[in-house]
Amino acid sequence: MRKIIHSVTIVTMNDENERINGYVVVERNLFQKVSKGKPTAEELRKADEVINGNGKWLMPGLINTHGHLGSSLLRGAGDDIPLMTWLKQVMWPNESRFDRETVLVAAELAMMEMIKSGTTTFLDMYHLHMDGIADVVMKKGLRATLCRGMIGLCSEEEQESKLKESVQLFKHYHGANEGKISIALSPHAPYTCPPSFLRRIAETAQEEKMMVHTHVSETRNEVEQHIKEYGKRPVIHLGELGLFDQPCLIAHGVHVNEQEISILKDRNVAVSHNPVSNLKLGSGIAPIPQMQAKGITVSLGTDSTASNNNLDMFEEMRMAALIHKGVKEDPATTNSFDTLAMGTHKGAEALQLHDIGKITAGYKADFIMIDPNVSHLTPWDESRILSHLIYATKGSDVTDTFIDGEAVYRNRQLINFDEERIISLANEKLKNFV
Ligand SMILES: [Zn+2]
Repeated sequence: MRKIIHSVTIVTMNDENERINGYVVVERNLFQKVSKGKPTAEELRKADEVINGNGKWLMPGLINTHGHLGSSLLRGAGDDIPLMTWLKQVMWPNESRFDRETVLVAAELAMMEMIKSGTTTFLDMYHLHMDGIADVVMKKGLRATLCRGMIGLCSEEEQESKLKESVQLFKHYHGANEGKISIALSPHAPYTCPPSFLRRIAETAQEEKMMVHTHVSETRNEVEQHIKEYGKRPVIHLGELGLFDQPCLIAHGVHVNEQEISILKDRNVAVSHNPVSNLKLGSGIAPIPQMQAKGITVSLGTDSTASNNNLDMFEEMRMAALIHKGVKEDPATTNSFDTLAMGTHKGAEALQLHDIGKITAGYKADFIMIDPNVSHLTPWDESRILSHLIYATKGSDVTDTFIDGEAVYRNRQLINFDEERIISLANEKLKNFV
């Protein structure tokens, strides 16, 4: 299947930061050509499908590197309370009542929201029914790194059974759907997993060659407790336990000091920065500019809709660009190209996916289109697009989303979803929650 999308302004996000008025040729699931100008008559004749972009912007699909799809129905269930109270009073009591259908409706709801706001790849950490979530993701055609979140505050037998479930998921789903599905190992956090369990997870990651994903140092209190209990800071401890021996992505990293930042860099650990969730829970602001100055791969995540409360990566990028300027009292702290990189190819690097996140020949054809003919994106020309994408665009400006060369959202219509049904089911389930 060969597709041509022409009459678009392409934001390539390649190393030269090129923006091109032209067209792309997609052969099966890859960009075969990215070019200026108009396709030739022969190229048009050879194409199975020709799409006129009508002046839209075409850019890489966004990559959300931290979330919990299964808790999407808890959007708005507990505002204005700190992380621990929120987990203990809102999240965990409700999640203990979730059945399989609730989790799968929540996951599908989140996928619709992501696709409609331009996300093509996401990481999901969830402790319930991950096999079911994986099946839905495959059916809907998204690219995802899925992890069965493991809380270790239980017997050793239960710990082992969670680990076994994670490895089984890996054996069954890793690389599935033409490589669109990846599986990682995911201890929930150092404060919910004792060291012996973390060591077991590190050994398993090593044996199976699995990537590791975990929450780290989200709140100040969590770090202070960790030091009290183990006599060392969490990042140092995790390194000693072997968690960084395989590729590792940590979520948050809000309260890390200079020494820990150096360890993250030396051990090649990537970070998922979740600015909106960290602000909403009053957790703090991660030292992202310091991490980037050291050369750490920093990506962006929304966290779940229970602490965000949406999955709009454009909003996340805007927040990431703004808060660090404010903290540093310096507008040069962030810029739009680097911020857009965090939402695209830095996210790909963080997930160990090295052929997505740019519009360039040989890369996977994961891309979105945006209609700039709206007042809040006017006026524009090629020199202003990056600024508009970070400071003015909303997820709802996305009109088309393609993953692996296949449309999952065309002219604002979802292809593989019964949106009305899922929204109605999600509202119906509200009565089951506390
Ligand atoms: Zn999280």
